[in-house]
Formats: sequence, C-alpha cells, structure tokens
Amino acid sequence: MKTSPPPVAVERTHGSRIMLADGRELVDGIASWWTACHGYNHPHIQAAMQQQLETMPHVMFGGAVHEPALRLAQRLCAMLPGDLERVFFTDSGSVAVEVALKMATQYWLNQGVRTRTKFLAFNGGYHGDTIAAMSVCDPEEGMHSLYSGVLPQNHIVDLPTDGGSIAAFEKVLAQHTHELAGIIVEPLVQGAGGMRFHDAGVLHWLRAAADKYDLLLIFDEIFTGFGRTGSMFACDEAGVEPDIITLSKALTGGTMGLAATIARKKVFDAFWSDDATAALMHGPSYMANALACAAANASLDLFEREPRLEQVARISKGLEAGLAPSRNLPGVVDVRIKGAIGVVELEAIDDLGALKQRFVDAGVWIRPFGRIVYLTPAFTIDDADLAKLTGAVVSVLSAA
Ligand SMILES: *Cc1c(COP(=O)(O)O)cnc(C)c1O
Repeated sequence: MKTSPPPVAVERTHGSRIMLADGRELVDGIASWWTACHGYNHPHIQAAMQQQLETMPHVMFGGAVHEPALRLAQRLCAMLPGDLERVFFTDSGSVAVEVALKMATQYWLNQGVRTRTKFLAFNGGYHGDTIAAMSVCDPEEGMHSLYSGVLPQNHIVDLPTDGGSIAAFEKVLAQHTHELAGIIVEPLVQGAGGMRFHDAGVLHWLRAAADKYDLLLIFDEIFTGFGRTGSMFACDEAGVEPDIITLSKALTGGTMGLAATIARKKVFDAFWSDDATAALMHGPSYMANALACAAANASLDLFEREPRLEQVARISKGLEAGLAPSRNLPGVVDVRIKGAIGVVELEAIDDLGALKQRFVDAGVWIRPFGRIVYLTPAFTIDDADLAKLTGAVVSVLSAA
C-alpha cells in the first residue's frame, strides 16, 4: 500500500466500460483479468443469477447436490475432448490448481507409490498464489521470487521448444521419473508469467513424454479456456488431451468466483475404492456454489447463442492492425497477437505506476506488468472501443 498509487474508485460497469466515482469512464482493456468475456452486466447472466438468488444462492456440496452444478459439470465435459469426464468444483483458480496437484499426487499414493510427489513445470508459467500453486510458477517472473527456498521443491525447466531445450527437458525427465507425479503447463499461452506463446508441437511433445514416463499431464486453462486463444479451449486447438484440466477466470463470465478441476477416467479410477481413505479429501465451504454455477451455465448459453469465436477472430485482426504501429517504437522488442490477446513487450518498464496512470489519463484501463503491456478485452467489445485501446497503447508508449 505504501508504494503503489491509490486505487481508482469504481462505481459501475457496463459492457466494456468501467465508470469511476468521479464521473470518468474507462474502456476496459483486460476484462477484469480476463474474466468478463461477455462484457460487464450481461442481461442474460444477470437474469439467471437473479432467479437462482431467489431459489437458492447456496447449499453445502457435501452429501448434497443440485441441478445447476450437475448441469454445468455435464456441459463442461461435453465441451472437452476425450474422457475428461470427472468434475471437481472449487471457488478460485489457485484452489483448482491445488486440487489438480493433490489429485495427481494422490493418484500415485492410492496405487501404493509414495515417491511420486513432485511436479515438472516451466519457466514463464503462472498457476496461482497459494503455496503449492506458487511452487510450480516461474521462480523469477511468477511474482513469488521472495519465496524461493521456502516452497515445496519442484522441477522448473524451459518449455521444450527446440533441440537444446528438448534435450535438457528429456534429461530432467529421465533423471527424476521416480519422484515425478506429473507435468503442469498453461497450453499455448503462458499468461501472467509473461504472455508468451508456444505452438501446439510443444504440447504434442509433452503428451508423448508424459506417456513415455507414465506422468499425468495437467493443462492449466484458467487463462486460455473459453475462447481467449481463438478456439474454445487451447487443448482443442492443439489437438492434445491432458489427464487433468483446470478452468476458472471466464467460467462465470466475470461475475463470481468458481473453478473446476476436471479429470480423465483413469485418474478417477485411482480413487474409486472400497477404502474410504482413498477419497480426495478436499471440500471448500462454497464448493459448487449454486449462484456461481447458474452464472456459469448462463455464460455457456451465451457461447452457444452468440458468435463469440467469430468475435475473437475479429478482435485478433483489430489488435494486429491497431498495435502494428507500436512495432517501430523505441524500446519495443516484440508485438504478438493470438486470439483476443495482444502483447507489446518492452525492453523494460521503469515506472509501472506512472505508466498505469498514463493509461487511466488516456481513458483506458490497461494494467502492464513486468515488461509487458497487454490487451485482453471482452469478446463483445465494439470496433471503436477496441481502436481506442490500441490507439492508447501506441500513443502512451510513443510519449514514454
Ligand atoms: C489467474 C490464474 C490462476 C489463478 O486463479 P485465481 O482465481 O486468481 O486464484 C491460475 N492459473 C492461471 C493460468 C491463471 O491465469
């Protein structure tokens, strides 16, 4: 609190706009950390939530079950490839990752294997802010470098993208197979760790390696899921089926905290036992919150009824054209676009606070981090607002 500028007071939201208490209106460039994929205050989601609020906002999910959660689970499984068919609901992305890591560890414990407790993860990765999630983030860029040495020790390596990194990766795998439970990766786009892209070949390679060394492959699609990269899920686009997948962020269309950890049948089968201690012991108080499930079901309706992926393709073109002039600016090292993600990477950002303030002064809500200025707008943003966002990036970076 001492070093960061005071937060802006927000009074209302609507569509792609954030209305401040002082009367100013900002175009939102990041859709509240990628959650508000349909824009704010979508009437269909609001109506579904209002109805659910009147019937039952919440009931505990231990020993009880309800239709909004069952329906959501079935719909998610129908959208995902292969036999990803067992859903575990939690209340945030970090917790969904904790559950995935717990599930993968216990998958081995339940089979009597006590040594496979570590994970292989990647530089540039981000998986959340809780202790186990932090331990699979990039040790430097994942915002948690202070904790190095304190966290559970996992193996963090470069993504296997070329001959050298593949050889290094293969070496770690071969040396540490006996202690590894699985591999965790954000497929196609590493988000909060630096907005870096990789191609599907990397994921095919990871799948093959996981099969060869008998490891569980976990895709963290909390950022990439629900259309952000241009297809409904990055695993679809890559044509690779993970053993466990985590979803959150845009799951409720930017209204409520909700997350899902979804496993393949073979993972579930390791828990299917007459011995009650084989169960996955995890049960958040607000597990499968009914109000959040209603919001998520309404969000899925919108993906079915409205042309979201076409909108993403249109945004992609708008980002290409609008951010192109920033390629020639001094200090810009890369401009890259994938789906509804536009990234301008700089050599350095000296004063993040001042840069954020200049964006607010320009009438846009853009939150640079590290060396990255990025746009991840709502899929429903109109051309004029998108142009305002890209124009602000170019003009603010030109003036810097
Ligand atoms: C945001 C994010 C998380 C953490 O989700 P929270 O809801 O913020 O806890 C985990 N993984 C990825 C890829 C994310 O983008």
